[in-house]
Order: sequence, then structure tokens, then C-alpha cells
Amino acid sequence: MTDFTMTKDADGVATIVWDTVGKSMNVMSRESMAQLSELAEQALADDAVKGIIITSGKDTFAGGMDLNVLASIREESGDNPEQGLFDFTMNGHKMLRRLERAGMDPKTNKGGKPIAAALPGTALGIGLELPLACHRIFAADNPKAKIGLPEIMVGIFPGAGGTTRLVRKMGAMAASPLLLEGKLNDPQKAKAAGVIDEVVPAEELLAKAKEWILSEPKIVKPWDEKGYKMPGGTPYHPAGFMTFVGASAMVNGKTQGAFPAAKALLSAVYEGALVPFDTALKIEARYFTNILMNPSSSAMIRSLFINKEALEKGANRPAAPDQKVKQVGVIGAGMMGAGIALVSALAGIKVVLIDSTQEAADKGKSYTTTYMDKGISRKKATPEKKEAVLGLINATTDYDALKDCDLIVEAVFEDPGVKADVTAKVQAVTGPDCIFATNTSTLPITELAKASNDPEKFIGIHFFSPVDKMLLVEIIKGKATGDVAVAKALDYVRQIRKTPIVVNDERYFYANRCIIPYINEGMRMVQEGVAPALIENAARQLGMPLGPLQLVDETSIDLGAKIAKATKAAMGDAYPDNDVDEIIFWMFDEGRLGRKSNAGFYEYDEKGKRQGLWQGLAEKYPHAEDQPDLITVQHRLMFAQVLEAVRALEENVLEDIREGDVGAILGWGFAPWTGGPFSWLDMLGSAYAAERCDHLAARFGPRFSTPALLREMADKGQSFYKRFAGEAKAA
Ligand code: NAD
Repeated sequence: MTDFTMTKDADGVATIVWDTVGKSMNVMSRESMAQLSELAEQALADDAVKGIIITSGKDTFAGGMDLNVLASIREESGDNPEQGLFDFTMNGHKMLRRLERAGMDPKTNKGGKPIAAALPGTALGIGLELPLACHRIFAADNPKAKIGLPEIMVGIFPGAGGTTRLVRKMGAMAASPLLLEGKLNDPQKAKAAGVIDEVVPAEELLAKAKEWILSEPKIVKPWDEKGYKMPGGTPYHPAGFMTFVGASAMVNGKTQGAFPAAKALLSAVYEGALVPFDTALKIEARYFTNILMNPSSSAMIRSLFINKEALEKGANRPAAPDQKVKQVGVIGAGMMGAGIALVSALAGIKVVLIDSTQEAADKGKSYTTTYMDKGISRKKATPEKKEAVLGLINATTDYDALKDCDLIVEAVFEDPGVKADVTAKVQAVTGPDCIFATNTSTLPITELAKASNDPEKFIGIHFFSPVDKMLLVEIIKGKATGDVAVAKALDYVRQIRKTPIVVNDERYFYANRCIIPYINEGMRMVQEGVAPALIENAARQLGMPLGPLQLVDETSIDLGAKIAKATKAAMGDAYPDNDVDEIIFWMFDEGRLGRKSNAGFYEYDEKGKRQGLWQGLAEKYPHAEDQPDLITVQHRLMFAQVLEAVRALEENVLEDIREGDVGAILGWGFAPWTGGPFSWLDMLGSAYAAERCDHLAARFGPRFSTPALLREMADKGQSFYKRFAGEAKAA
């Protein structure tokens, strides 16, 4: 059995069908690439063949390259992995270039056989780069299909000619959202953007492609013709000049130079635009190799592609029968409950949404109405879909309506008494198999479970705000939580298409536990007289989406003040002397609560648009004469987070470093280019990391002390991924 097969019909049209054996979606491997090449050569050499259709045997075209291939090439290439990767990339270019030239005379461009790509559905990565090398791209009118080049999302860029071809086909300006943001389009939009050529009814896909082949079309690509001019202009053309200057500023503004792939992509596009097509491909291959050799790309691929998918597929799911949720009860229709009801209904799950008044319950449901209306205005939803989704949500105050629910997610006020009360009220009506989950962000699950009549069925399902946008869900096991509850939570998270991590119950669980020290370190530096702009810029240049002070403004000062008060109350004398409480309570007293009060560490205009940093801060905390260097500020911000992740692992809050890495990026936006805290520490090397901690601890205090685990790893010369994730697990 092979992934590519070919048939020829009586009219001389050869159809090559891609159907990856044993997978639901086509992915390109080294073997399948060789098969495609061989079949294409056969067809091109066969006098009886007039043209070729390349299509798929599945209802999608392809999901892209098997990213494990790139890792294996690097490993197989011994002490010269760059050469191995470059040769592999250039072989791909040669193969696709032969398809593109299709036997044409190199001088006259005469002859050659038309090749059509016929896409029944989704075409991503090399699944679009291959069609771009063909002469015409037909796509079935399938609104669910996604077409694009998402490579940048995992720290690489399109390296099978997609970068060079797309820019030459559309111009740098039009290609930039597709290449730099990995924007995906449905077929109609992809056609409007000029990525593909025709959208046809699904049942006519092959017939239309064949009709085109038999029409003896002109197949030479514009860039292979004399006098070709790149749309929008090359870098030295006045219009092109503006594009490239603008793009460079935009990319650096957005990424702060922290994403090597974005920089390399831009260089490949710029330099490629100055030279003939085949040289441009070579330049693309060189930058692609460079990026594949950067540890950031392998870490990003590992966390954001391989491990994220493994977690979504239930890598840490205990063995238990299918626990798919049929009806969920959401208690508390506030900000979180409204979002949880929305994402559940969008996944087709029936929802009972409860609040203490009908008005509050209705208000929670109206969040879904607003969301769907927005979708309709953006043509992403239809009025029928809106009705169907709303029809799944029963907003009520009546607890009896919960009796058929198999999962409850409680999102009432963050108050143990209120939560205990709700738990008892719910359990008075639900059946014995119903799993009860709390969305608490700060209260220990084991404590809350004491209010339950069956702690084995009690669990934490911690969503992040805003629920509909945030991809991570943290599942927290209390001391008594049983396997079925964990399986239920995981199956539910899978239904609503989010990424789960499963952690054990300790204060702040995992994500909040790591982000709080980041925020605190930022505020502590303000108190020390470090310039707030230095702190914020240092964080952004690390690739953090928000500086710590901006993050406080977004989450609000009073939340910080509330958490500090609650923690103090809960811990009593054991409460660590938290020197940032001073600045939090001061900001609170000044009424600078953050974005919601239009005043925080930043100033805001009357429309709520963020302006510069608040000057009043410098009056209270004057800038020190000696400012620290950038690296010191960055290391303080980074180690504040990653050491907490290491401690979470030491304390068994985290059971799997993959969850620590994936959860950090999806949960709080931890510098994605690193692949996560453990990947970043592996990049530094445990010995250097421990040395930095010793240095920071000596200068700034014991919160930076090297954790015993890291010290041991430094002594043994170990890395996290070698020590904690066996080859199969680490992928
Ligand atoms: P919220 O104040 O917006 O909503 C709480 C809702 O619960 C209100 O509508 C309230 O009327 C309702 N409620 C209170 N007592 C009730 C009762 N006895 N019966 C029924 N309904 C009741 O709060 P929120 O921000 O949505 O947070 C809810 C929970 O989610 C809290 O436990 C919070 O810690 C957690 N959480 C919040 C965030 C966040 O960013 N806001 C993130 C993760 C988790």
C-alpha cells in the first residue's frame, strides 16, 4: 500500500490520488514524497498522458508535512545536520519545480503538460505548497475547508517553495498575513485573496479540473516568463520599497525580534524578491535550514504541535469508558459561566445555565446571543446556527432542571461558603454518576470537595478568561478525585476543542502559580526604582505578550488585592512576607484598578485606549540613578516564572513536563518561541541555569534559589526532556 496512486483515463488524463495509509488526514512523509515524484515523472514521460490531476482520496486534501520527519533528518545527518536539512529541502524544491516546469522547453517555454491540483477540503502547509507548484488550483466549495500556510505558528515558515511562490503570485503585501500570521481562509476567501484559482461544486471538482486540462491551457508561470514583474513591486521599486520597509517595522513591532522564524521569513522574502526564481528557492532553503537548526523551532514544534496534539488526544487520560458529556449544568452565569455555557453549546452539548435570579441567568445566556450575532455579521455563522446554539441553553433559576446533567461546572462567587451551598443544592437533584467540577481559580479543590457527598466525583475544571478565546483548560485533581472524574473532564475538554493539562491540587494550581511571581517581580522592580518602561520592554522583547504591569492592568488591581487578602486570611502566620502588597494596596487606594477603571500602571483615554505609563508612579517610586542591564531584568522576569514551574514539578503538582510547557504557552502566553519553561531551561542547559539562579538569589533574594531538582540535574548534566520524557513521550 502506498500513499500516492495513479490512474489514467481514456482521454489521457492521469489522476494522482493522495491517501495517506492509516491516517484520517494526508501528511507528507519522505516515502510519500518519493512516491509522488516517481508517479509524476512517469506521467510526464508517458506520451499517452495529456495532463495530470493531483487530488486526495479523503474529504480533505492534506494537513501538511509530518513534522517528525524534520527532526529525524536532523538526527540522521550526523555531525552535519545543516547539510542534511538543506539537501532535503532542495530535493523537495527540485521535485516541485519539475512539476511546475512539467517538461516545458527551458528556452521557449513550449510544451509541457498541464497539472491541476483538486482540493476537496482543507489544504495546509505542504498541502498548499504542492498545489502552488501546480498550474491551476481547484477547490471544492466547502466552507469548512481551511486553506493556508500555518507554519509560523509552530516556529518555522513555509519551506517547500510556498514562501517564494506565494509572494510572486500575490505580491509581498497580500501574502504577508498568510505567511506572517499563518492566516487560514475558506475556499471562497482563498480565491478572493488570489491564493487559489477556482472554487467549484464538490461533485464537479474532478470534472472541472479535467475540463481545464483538456482545454490545452497556457501553463507557464508568470515568473518563468520574460519581463515578469512582481505584484506590488520588488524592494527597489518605489511601491515595493514602502511595503518592505513597512513589513519590517510591523514584524519587529509585533514580535519585538523574539521570533526567529518571522525574521527569517522576512529575509527570505526580501532577498528572494531581488533574484531570479530558482535562486530565490535556494535562499528560501537556506533560511529554512537556519530556522530548523534554531533550538526554538524544535521546541515550538514539540510543544505546540506534537505534545499539544498528544494532550488533546488524551495522553494522560486514565483508562475509563467514554465519558462524553450529554448535558452540562453551569452554575453561576457571570463572566466565566456565560463563557462556559457558550463553548459547551457551540460543541453541541445541552446546557442548563443557573443563576440566583432569572435576570442574571438570562444575562449569561445573552453572551451567546451577542457572540453569535457577531459571528453572523462576520459571515462566520448563520441565523439558523444561532437559533440552534441558543436552543441548547436553558437559562433558569430552577435547580431541578439539573437532574439529567452528567457534568456540573460551578462558576459562582469565589467564596467557599457560597460554593459549598451550591454543591449541596446541586447534589440534591443530580444522579449518582454526575461529576461535579468547580472553576475556582484560588481555592483548594480538596477543601471544596468536603462539601460534596462524593469527593471521588469532585474535580477542578479551571477555564481561563475569556473562555471562548483561551485554548487551555487546567484540570485539577483533589486528593480524593477518582479516575472517572478525570476522564470525564478530559472528554469534555476534548468535546469543546480545547487543550487540557491535568495537575494536582496545590495553591494556585499551575498556571496562576507561575504567572503571579512574574507580575510580582515586575511590581517589585518598580518599588526598587527600576524604570517601568525598562521592565515592560524587557518582557516584550522576551516574547511575553504583555509586560507584567500591563498584565496587572488587564487582570485588575483589585483582583490582586483580593487574592492577597484571601491568601493572608487562609495562611495566617505562614503568609510569606510579600513586599509587593505595598504597591498593590497603594494602587488600590489611589483607585487605579487597571483597565476597567481607565487608570492603572498605564494611562487610558476616555475610550479606554491604552496610552503611556502613568507618570504618577515615578513620584511614588522615583527611578534609581543606576538602572539594571536588560538581561538582568529579563532573567528576573523569566526565572520568576520557570522556577515556579520547576517547583510545581518537584511537588508533583505537574506530573508531566509536556503539560508544563504546553500549559505555559496556552495558559499565560509564556514566551512561545521558547517552547515553554522546561524547554527554555533545556536551551540554557541545567548547569548554566543553576549558575544564573545562584547569582540571582545572591543579589535579589532566596525566591531565586536553585531548586534541588535543578541542582541535581546540573550536577548530572541532565536536561528535562531527557530525564522526564522518554523518547516516545517527548517525541
Ligand atoms: P462573576 O461574579 O462574574 O459571576 C459569578 C456569578 O455567580 C454571578 O452571576 C452570580 O450571580 C452567580 N452566583 C453567585 N452565587 C450564586 C448562587 N448561590 N447560585 C447561583 N448563582 C450564583 O464571577 P466570575 O469572574 O465569572 O468567576 C466565577 C468563578 O470562576 C470564580 O470561582 C472565579 O474564581 C473563577 N474564575 C474566574 C476567572 C476570571 O478571570 N474571572 C478565571 C478563572 C476562574
